[in-house]
Amino acid sequence: MAKAPTDRQSPATRLVTAGRRPEWTGTSNQPGAVVNPAVWRASTHLYPDMAALKAGGKSNEDGRFYYGRRGAPTQWALAEALTELEPGAFGTLLYPSGVAAIAGALLAVLRAGDVLLITDNAYEPSRNIGLGLLAQYGVETRFFDPLDPAGFAAAFCERTRAVLLEAPGSLTMEVADIPALAAIAREKGAVSLIDNTWASALGFPALKRGCDIAIMSLTKHVGGHSDLMMGSASAGEALYRRLRRTAQQLGHVVSPDDAALALRGLRTLGVRLERESASALRIAQWLAARPEVARVLCPMLPGAPGHDIWSRDFTGGCGLFSFILKGGDEAARARFIDALQLFGIGFSWGGFESLVVPVDPKGARSVTSWPPARMDSADRFGVRLAIGLEDPDDLISDLEKAFAAWSLG
Ligand SMILES: *Cc1c(COP(=O)(O)O)cnc(C)c1O
Repeated sequence: MAKAPTDRQSPATRLVTAGRRPEWTGTSNQPGAVVNPAVWRASTHLYPDMAALKAGGKSNEDGRFYYGRRGAPTQWALAEALTELEPGAFGTLLYPSGVAAIAGALLAVLRAGDVLLITDNAYEPSRNIGLGLLAQYGVETRFFDPLDPAGFAAAFCERTRAVLLEAPGSLTMEVADIPALAAIAREKGAVSLIDNTWASALGFPALKRGCDIAIMSLTKHVGGHSDLMMGSASAGEALYRRLRRTAQQLGHVVSPDDAALALRGLRTLGVRLERESASALRIAQWLAARPEVARVLCPMLPGAPGHDIWSRDFTGGCGLFSFILKGGDEAARARFIDALQLFGIGFSWGGFESLVVPVDPKGARSVTSWPPARMDSADRFGVRLAIGLEDPDDLISDLEKAFAAWSLG
């Protein structure tokens, strides 16, 4: 859904006003006006006559009724709100999951014979899109070290058409110099896509920092309540039109119920991120002082890897970070995780509740090593925490008890 961006208001205000067109909600001087667009369930839209049916088919644009696959006001309002929150975006497409958004965007910009560069610390299913789906269609995927801009520049060849970036990296949280990498990609004539799920547009205005397509898993913070799956891709006009054409051909559409839930989540995104980030930073500081912890991988923490670039380029963070246990083994880590009471064991993050998973990225690396050379190789067992909205003091007590179980042996 496309709309000229309104960069003048601050993000906090835009979170409240974005996507609330009077034609979708009514206006306040009309009886029956509402704050949120209705859940508009429709596969079929009915036309008064043949002429109207014909005209509907011609205007292949969002925001015009035609057929359910092109959406209705509930989906349009969410897409438009996300566009208004992403400075530099002309429009946003919605996808049935974050992975669908990544695959859909890559399919829109690549063709047989092209080379795709993917950051080596990417979300593992993103790697698999390159190595599996795209390979099947004649696209070659190569990986690069996100912390080596010179190596990245050297990795381009004549056939390199797109690069997939992500910062901080999934699980291991390296913060790449995205403005530098995006500038190199542009100079080489490649489209840069970024998986911006961690920071969202509030914490990292990706298009403003030089990226061409900003992708999010809305399953995480935007939904915010662990009850829906969705993804988005926002871009300037020309790329938005390519994304849209491909999404229509792939039949990507999201349900109006999920769109309404995501829109509800979006309204409180700012306060949730602020609270989570503050709690995560407190917990990261506490962990950094623990004898059981070798290293805290939280870019928001002063002195942690990536903190300098994070402070320079990001305007916010979130509750997701990792840490590495000092020595120990697989069984000790399992005791630690099993002893946690307030952290659910489960994938995903960005909900109101805290979660934990083990970090073992070793098999998902092609050109970098894990643990990195700068770390002691005895410290291999990582843990990823997604900090929710609980009181951080309670979360700290829970972690303290789990460390006791870890050291029991
Ligand atoms: C979860 C996640 C995705 C995928 O999103 P889904 O909605 O689960 O398909 C993509 N990137 C990152 C960084 C994620 O954490």
